[in-house]
Amino acid sequence: AMAGAAAARLRAEIRRRERELRGLRERLRPSWLLGFPAELPPLPARSALSAAEILRYSRQLVLPDSVLVVGCGGLGCPWRSTWRRPAWAAWGWWITTWWRRATAAAGAARRGARGRPKARSAAARCGGFNSAVQYVPYRGALGPRSALRLVRQYDIVADCSDNVPTRYLVSDACVLAGKPLVSGSALRLEGQLVVYNYRGGPCYRCLFPEPPPPDTVTNCADGGVLGVVTGIIGCMQALEVLKIASGMGSSFHQYMLMFDALEGRFRNIKLRPKKADCAVCGDSPSITCLQDYEAFCGSSATDKCRTLQLLPSKDRISVERYKELLDERVPHVLLDVRPQVEVDICRLEHAVHIPLRKLEEKDEEYLQYLQKRIREEKQRTDEQTSFPVYVICKLGNDSQKAVKILQELPVKEFGSVLAKDIKGGLMAWATKIDSTFPQY
Ligand SMILES: [Zn+2]
Repeated sequence: AMAGAAAARLRAEIRRRERELRGLRERLRPSWLLGFPAELPPLPARSALSAAEILRYSRQLVLPDSVLVVGCGGLGCPWRSTWRRPAWAAWGWWITTWWRRATAAAGAARRGARGRPKARSAAARCGGFNSAVQYVPYRGALGPRSALRLVRQYDIVADCSDNVPTRYLVSDACVLAGKPLVSGSALRLEGQLVVYNYRGGPCYRCLFPEPPPPDTVTNCADGGVLGVVTGIIGCMQALEVLKIASGMGSSFHQYMLMFDALEGRFRNIKLRPKKADCAVCGDSPSITCLQDYEAFCGSSATDKCRTLQLLPSKDRISVERYKELLDERVPHVLLDVRPQVEVDICRLEHAVHIPLRKLEEKDEEYLQYLQKRIREEKQRTDEQTSFPVYVICKLGNDSQKAVKILQELPVKEFGSVLAKDIKGGLMAWATKIDSTFPQY
């Protein structure tokens, strides 16, 4: 077996060269692939079909032919997590099988800096399946300035994004442009599907007039999602798009589909019709043009790394500082608050593991375990000051929530504890401290 350090060096070298390659490929990117809000390229004219193609697509030719797909991850997967890409591929198959023309708009502009834009790679792969289908990749964040112009060019819109601001933006744009919106979402082991703004049904705002508080929202990057679940919801979205386009219609403007992968159950929840007092689709709407949705929701529209700022900076430390404390062998407890499935993927060996949910529930058994571990570690020090507990999670959001809970624990039982969160979590640890630590 190769020595650990040598293997780590090799892996780091491979990553460096891959980054370099991505950069080189990026420079080959054609200039027509402009980011928003540059002038949108018009949809290319439909090219003449060969007789064979007409035969192959006879059933689909009668259908309207343009679909705008917003977001082309497996409903919001980080670009480099290749293991999640099959979920996207499922989408690709569907749109290539059925659609003469489909468009993918990438969710996050910053993705472009990392490598090949997802929209372009999606289009390239779909194009490989079927040359009769035209794919127009748009790169860049969909914003209030570009959304309406874009949505107006298409017959049906599918929302495959993974963040609240984009959901409001796309829904409002569809109401203003009069287009049906097939909206899918997936988180952990659950998925949902609704068709908004269709045949008197509600829009997204009818159901959710106010955005949820930003710190209560969990997205896929934080919460994780099973690629198969996004695949299932994505396929169902494509099916509903097809039904709407063909005139069969969809039932999901009256019902919300809920899929529970754990129980293996689909449920339909009855929806109310659109609200007369809805701010955008109601009788006297107050919203007549698109707004600043990130400000409205208090969160950013990138689906990848939403970073919360719940704690003052005195309650947070960097991964670099934590590494120093570790090297100095300063007595402390490291508390990992990720769900068990993530801990099973990778962990820091010395961490005490208690899922955030157990802390939130004030689970007796877990709290006693924490108390015991703090007591054990405390015995290694004579210091009478507050005992440090550092809290870590994947990205540094849940860890802040956990610190807030720890700060409220009774001093009588736990003694004086100084809880701090490690900024950026284990992913920062992986990028800045230990390149052999897995990123997921
Ligand atoms: Zn509405």
